[in-house]
Amino acid sequence: MVAATLSTSSTSTAVKKRIVIADELGYCWGVRRALDIIQDAAEKNGPVAPVGDIIHNPQVVERLRAKGVEGMASVHDAVDHGFQRVAITAHGQGPHLAQQAASEGVELIDTTCPLVTKVQRLGQKLVRQGYFLVVYGDSFHPEVKGVLGWADTSKAIAAKKIADLPWNAKRGESGEGKVTPPRKVAVVSQTTKNIDELMKFAHELQAMVVPEGGEFRLCNTICEPTSERQNALKRLVERDNVDLILAIGGNKSSNTARLAEVGRSMGVESHHIERFEDIEDGWLAEAHTVGVTAGASTPDDVIQTVVEHLAGRGFEPPDGGIRPVDPGYVPAY
Ligand code: SF4
Repeated sequence: MVAATLSTSSTSTAVKKRIVIADELGYCWGVRRALDIIQDAAEKNGPVAPVGDIIHNPQVVERLRAKGVEGMASVHDAVDHGFQRVAITAHGQGPHLAQQAASEGVELIDTTCPLVTKVQRLGQKLVRQGYFLVVYGDSFHPEVKGVLGWADTSKAIAAKKIADLPWNAKRGESGEGKVTPPRKVAVVSQTTKNIDELMKFAHELQAMVVPEGGEFRLCNTICEPTSERQNALKRLVERDNVDLILAIGGNKSSNTARLAEVGRSMGVESHHIERFEDIEDGWLAEAHTVGVTAGASTPDDVIQTVVEHLAGRGFEPPDGGIRPVDPGYVPAY
């Protein structure tokens, strides 16, 4: 990392503008794995249609299209467009997708991240154990829909805040309009959520569930690569006196949005950008140290382009490039 540099003259002290890079950023293990599987399949056997966005990054989506990998809205859509093979993306899907592929007679390639599969299986197990399952996450996100699909019960719901839940009172409370939770409630999280916000949600829910012999269980299923990216950003802010954060990732990327939120929660002006053209002049006007991070679906060259753009605007790039690559890394799960 480049150390802060002060250049002094007899009349003024100028602080050199610089770029600092989070030591964990960009493509996560699960996204790399999914892209490898699907590109390999397309190269060997021809076109593949992932159902939904294979990755929340428009630049990568374009490149994949050129290789015969094109996202379709449904299995039916893929068949209509002449595809013989469909794929489940790293976010996973409910069991319905394999059933649809079988009934349409198309081959299915499953690139679900094993860390997402873990949440799907855990959700099923908790439901079998009699818990009402709360999936902390975005109800519209394919990963959350998939976890609920595998849970396959009316006793499961997606929620991001207490108001999203069907209960508004603590167990044991009664009165007009009061709806209390069942005796057993468990929470799992969308893998890309923020741990501090998950804990806040869980504490509030726990207070509603545990009175009168209630049982509450929190399973932290935020994945290791997501936690690492958030922790790396926190370290960057604490260590490098950052006064602006740019979190790079597709507009639909949930984990990139979380990174920008982490920056803001630490009191630093933070923006989620998809590409360098999104950077506004006003953001850079007063900035001296720009912290750069990127979501799990952001390729290295997009990060590099942002760094080069900032360098062209007078910010000194980092000595060691955008990050050390560890191709052998596999997260614990
Ligand atoms: Fe897997 Fe986590 Fe990457 Fe999602 S963000 S694909 S769960 S490693």
